[in-house]
Amino acid sequence: MDEAEIKELTEFKRFGKIPPGLSRQKKFTFLRRAKSFVFEILRNIWAGKVGGRLWSKIGPYKIFTWDLELLKPGEKLESEVINAYLTCMASRYKGNVFVIDTFQMTNLWNGKATKMNKIDLKVYDLLVGSVNEGDHWTLLVIYPQEGKIIYMNSCGESRGEVAHCLKAVRGFMDQNGFEDTTWKCVKLTHSMQPDATSCRVFVCKFAEALLLGGDLNFSCEDANIAQIREELGLCLLTESDSLGNLCLACGDHYPDTPDLVDTWVACDSCQGWYHWDCVNRPNLKAHYICQGCQGPM
Ligand SMILES: [Zn+2]
Ligand SMILES: [Zn+2]
Repeated sequence: MDEAEIKELTEFKRFGKIPPGLSRQKKFTFLRRAKSFVFEILRNIWAGKVGGRLWSKIGPYKIFTWDLELLKPGEKLESEVINAYLTCMASRYKGNVFVIDTFQMTNLWNGKATKMNKIDLKVYDLLVGSVNEGDHWTLLVIYPQEGKIIYMNSCGESRGEVAHCLKAVRGFMDQNGFEDTTWKCVKLTHSMQPDATSCRVFVCKFAEALLLGGDLNFSCEDANIAQIREELGLCLLTESDSLGNLCLACGDHYPDTPDLVDTWVACDSCQGWYHWDCVNRPNLKAHYICQGCQGPM
């Protein structure tokens, strides 16, 4: 590795950003290097060796150490991770796609969603989001131009659910100017969830297959589900927006609160920046190593 490449990787480590303007070949090489680096981060997080910090921001969704911890086999993903992953898939989709976050999609499912504020759904080819019912998560994809709905439940879709889905989507879309559309709900064959914790992983994988093309009938062996979990983590860590101007503790810019001192401190190991107030006001003249580098307190 030459000096420029080391610099690029360090930047990536700090901000999760793939250097702009790389040729295809260079980007490929960079990602291969970044991949082993990212897997190391994930393995350390899963081993409980990493303290809390912000790792990735995808659209409005922020992914912290504890979100990545829940990607570990046997754990249940946070909705933030599902929303972030759907946003990643949406950004790669060739067409106009709108991600409805899990909160809003669940409202839609429960008949509580109304007209979207300032958003014209007519311009989209596809709306995608995850529905939460109790401890179970499912995927809903709406194709407004075609009047088509795909509902995917990793435990299988009952007739009652399909009927409910049609009614809920119709109710929501009516309020958004689709009164004249005739809707149909399509059922697809797909892999079934083999355990009690993976429905959220299936939601992500189903969305990926529908948006980017891919097999809905993937292997449900433990080893494959574990690999999918790793790949979700890899995607979230490598496709982050820039974290350059965010505090890695709280994930925000500096708040406009007069009683907070406008001071930042950089970690001497990862070079990430933190609000001084967010990391218990360390001595600014001494070395500072952040929790993400130091391990959990
Ligand atoms: Zn902060
Ligand atoms: Zn650090």
